Amino acid sequence: MLALTTKIVLHETASIRICSSCKKLIAPDEKAVSFRCPNCGSVVIWRCQKCRTMTVPYKCPNCGFEGP
Ligand SMILES: [Zn+2]
Ligand SMILES: [Zn+2]
Repeated sequence: MLALTTKIVLHETASIRICSSCKKLIAPDEKAVSFRCPNCGSVVIWRCQKCRTMTVPYKCPNCGFEGP
């Protein structure tokens, strides 16, 4: 009998960094920047190296604040 106990669990841990601008996963060795939302201060915004150099706008998922 097969014991199918394998579950795919998606954890949103602090180690998973997703760029707030392009929604791509940021590699651990990538020179990304993180900062708290300047408007609400409760969300940590991540920006990958590419979006940082291209100054792609980000949007806070909490308050909807958009910044360069
Ligand atoms: Zn990005
Ligand atoms: Zn915010």
